[in-house]
Amino acid sequence: MKKTLTCIECPIGCTIEVEFEGEQVLSVKGNACLRGKAYASSEVVCPKRVLTSTVRAENGGLVPVKTSEPIPKDQLFAVMEKINAVVCKLPVKIGDVIVENICDGADLIATNSEE
Ligand code: SF4
Repeated sequence: MKKTLTCIECPIGCTIEVEFEGEQVLSVKGNACLRGKAYASSEVVCPKRVLTSTVRAENGGLVPVKTSEPIPKDQLFAVMEKINAVVCKLPVKIGDVIVENICDGADLIATNSEE
């Protein structure tokens, strides 16, 4: 099976063609670097994304957050349900872990400081 993708790892946006059979990647063409090869290989077998969102803070405000690493796309809704149940204590600093190991070893971390 073949799939043509636009690499989202940098602004160049190379067009990459991946040939694969089930979960086995047979060839990757069109990538200008190894990041693109890794992205395209992962995208056809197990697509992943960094999830960005907000969590409620104890003062009623919102704290912007993201996963520390890309997580499987098929887990995004389940992780959003976990995020919606979180109320975080203040203050938080950029990079603070709000939820440890929220999915597949990725933590949920603050992307802004809040008092
Ligand atoms: S393959 Fe490399 S150079 Fe091309 S878009 Fe992806 S990261 Fe950028």
